Amino acid sequence: MIRPGDTATVISKTPLTGTVDGAIGDELGTYLSGLGPTLRNVTSAALAVARIDELGWAPLGGYPGSDVLWPVACLMCGKSVLRFYSHLRRARPAMRHRGCVPQGQHSYLLTALSAHIADTCPCRRGHATTVDDVAQAFEGLQRAVRRDDHGQVVARVRALTGPCPATAARAGAIRALQSASK
Ligand SMILES: [Zn+2]
Ligand SMILES: [Zn+2]
Repeated sequence: MIRPGDTATVISKTPLTGTVDGAIGDELGTYLSGLGPTLRNVTSAALAVARIDELGWAPLGGYPGSDVLWPVACLMCGKSVLRFYSHLRRARPAMRHRGCVPQGQHSYLLTALSAHIADTCPCRRGHATTVDDVAQAFEGLQRAVRRDDHGQVVARVRALTGPCPATAARAGAIRALQSASK
């Protein structure tokens, strides 16, 4: 059970930039699980990571697609569970998972969790958060895929999908880029 003031503890236990973006973050599977690094998959993963962050969840593994079980951590109580993104993105079920904090506390906790949100990326290894960054990262990704440069593929996918306090800004930049290119 979480009390007011405990949220910082919950956040510090969850794998935000520290774990996922650390030494093990050089594997493509950290960001995409069973999916190739296509523009479409990377876009879906970036939007999914932003959406679950907004709803108080953190990825514990690469985005696997919307109808494959995804290991995620509930940021309200710290529990690790397997969930489908197709359910998570609709905030279903409303009780989140068995044993979570009472529903009456969810909106308070979401507000408390939103304190970590940033407009710009503060991470040691940066993420793409502006339309220009995102456009460059996607171009770099396409180039790296063509050259079969795995290290650069992983670096671009990481910049576009890795956990970051600015995931919402990044998703907004990706959406802006999409609508500009239509
Ligand atoms: Zn929970
Ligand atoms: Zn970042």
